[in-house]
Amino acid sequence: MNRQLALLVSIQNLELQLRDAQDETKAKALEAMGFPMSVEKIQRDISGLLEQIEPRHRSYYLRLKTRFENPVVPVWDGHCTGCFANVPTAFTSVTNVNRVMSCESCGRILFQP
Ligand SMILES: [Zn+2]
Repeated sequence: MNRQLALLVSIQNLELQLRDAQDETKAKALEAMGFPMSVEKIQRDISGLLEQIEPRHRSYYLRLKTRFENPVVPVWDGHCTGCFANVPTAFTSVTNVNRVMSCESCGRILFQP
């Protein structure tokens, strides 16, 4: 997977963790199971990863985040799993393997799981 894309997927996973960490009930339950959640640490990790994203991809991601809870989604069976629109087969072609591509319908950033 493209490194930028891998970073974006990691950032999105951290954002989900952050949401759990900010939810007192969930955070307490996770801590009781042995997964202490530190809001500050997760925010630091997110900032650190965002710094490694190319500015154009970073600003696009941040804009998408205001519209969608999940701005980075996998392609499944030829469809965007965000809006279920067909994804052109060109997306999966070898020439596009190292590009960050987005859904033509909803704009979400796509990745191959
Ligand atoms: Zn879509």
